[in-house]
Amino acid sequence: NDPTPELPQAIREKIQDHPCYSEEAHHHFARMHVAVAPACNIQCHYCNRKYDCANESRPGVVSEVLKPHQAVKKALAVAASIPEMTVVGIAGPGDGLANPTRTFQTFRGIREQADDIKLCLSTNGMALPEHVEELAALGVDHITITINSIDPEVGARIHPWVIWNKKRVFGVEGARLLIQQQQKGLEMLVERGVLVKVNSVMIPGINDEHLKEVSRVVKAKGAFMHNIMPLISEPEHGTYFGLNGQRGPTQAELTALRDACGTDMKMMRHCRQCRADAVGRLGEDRGAEFTADRIDELE
Ligand code: SF4
Ligand code: SF4
Repeated sequence: NDPTPELPQAIREKIQDHPCYSEEAHHHFARMHVAVAPACNIQCHYCNRKYDCANESRPGVVSEVLKPHQAVKKALAVAASIPEMTVVGIAGPGDGLANPTRTFQTFRGIREQADDIKLCLSTNGMALPEHVEELAALGVDHITITINSIDPEVGARIHPWVIWNKKRVFGVEGARLLIQQQQKGLEMLVERGVLVKVNSVMIPGINDEHLKEVSRVVKAKGAFMHNIMPLISEPEHGTYFGLNGQRGPTQAELTALRDACGTDMKMMRHCRQCRADAVGRLGEDRGAEFTADRIDELE
């Protein structure tokens, strides 16, 4: 009855109490996200900055941004009231590593006061290489990188610009930098034994065929899982400024691509694309019990 028999033993041990990756853990353990990272260092055509980062979070949701000391307090309060809470992640509402001071203050604060809590991070990868050492030193053991392409010509159709050395770099040149940073960050994390999952957003006619190559490359480099998510293009989730009229994939197209990439859906079907401030077991959200105006009352 092993939920993940095809993964190596060392990886299975690391994810066995992570609710996002293990069928068993999903019933017994809880996770929370703390929304401490408002800024972003790239632009995705499908992003609507009125809402949380579309790479990991549920579309069309606005999370309340916390200061690091509030996030630490919230994590400790949640851990005290939900003992099965094993994982605290930062997944927005922008990019954790575009807000390194806030992100690391939060991780350090939690580490110092509750060293049994697992830390995880979702990032677009743009600023990953310069932070790998610190992430590994803090024992952040799950990192998700959103990688939509490994070809700058494809990437430029999804990411119109990136910030590099405090300047905007546009088009193919910007996409080349993003891809270079993502791949370097992935390699550095794998070398240090950090578990890396790769997320990709499937955009029909733009990167759908290309994602087979992305999948092959990231797995060869040691990503333990590749999760392909559909572009969600309904207007109620926001106006996509660069992909107007762009449709998302049908369920049949998504399934065919996931099959072609060998995505382990037994594991990935747990991922609910949670809010950047989600709290509780997967599928439940107790975030309203722990909002900023109540955190000061919590001990
Ligand atoms: Fe938006 Fe997330 Fe892309 Fe940044 S990485 S532009 S927050 S979707
Ligand atoms: Fe887990 Fe997915 Fe939610 Fe992240 S978004 S906490 S991986 S279920």
